[in-house]
Amino acid sequence: MRLVLATHNPHKVDELRRILGEAGVEPIPELLSGRDVALPDVEETGATFAENAMLKARAGFLATGLACVADDSGLVVDALDGEPGIRSARYAGGHGDDEANLRLVVERMRGAEDRRARFVCAAAVVAAEGEWVVEDTLEGNLADEPRGDRGFGYDPILVPHGDTRTCAELTPEEKDAISHRGKAFRGLRPILEAL
Ligand code: IMP
Repeated sequence: MRLVLATHNPHKVDELRRILGEAGVEPIPELLSGRDVALPDVEETGATFAENAMLKARAGFLATGLACVADDSGLVVDALDGEPGIRSARYAGGHGDDEANLRLVVERMRGAEDRRARFVCAAAVVAAEGEWVVEDTLEGNLADEPRGDRGFGYDPILVPHGDTRTCAELTPEEKDAISHRGKAFRGLRPILEAL
């Protein structure tokens, strides 16, 4: 089976490959990405993570004719009415300016008492057989100041429940085991197995 992951991000490709491999999805699908096949640019016009993941997966399936997986993710902060949410990658303006986005959340949360927040990931599959979407979260609290130099994005300010370290202080294996993306991708296993 050939499966396309609608991303140009090699970290996501490695992560999905690891999860499918360790999950015993047999036979392990050959995993292609935006580096192997031409994927269309998709405007993320959905109002939710799930809608945006579905838009990307549908476009990938239509462009390649192959079963396509796509994800959409971000940080949701209760005290900011759910922001940055689906705008996580461009919260401070420029797309993908992780440092500016992180600084803006730190600033807006200065002095806030309610520090509850979560990473959310929606993972969608579109294939000839149908469409599915799985959503999962990594729940935690926001630190006052960024800590740690691993990971990316908002990792230096989210402290997962049950830990005192931020996500940027966890090893990649520790983060995979509890992460929103890890859990959502693992949630796709039964669907991919059935295809
Ligand atoms: P996308 O799903 O690749 O579009 O990612 C959206 C944005 O959410 C990223 O640019 C990051 O800022 C943020 N984000 C998503 N997942 C994580 C994570 O695991 N750690 C830190 N930031 C994340």
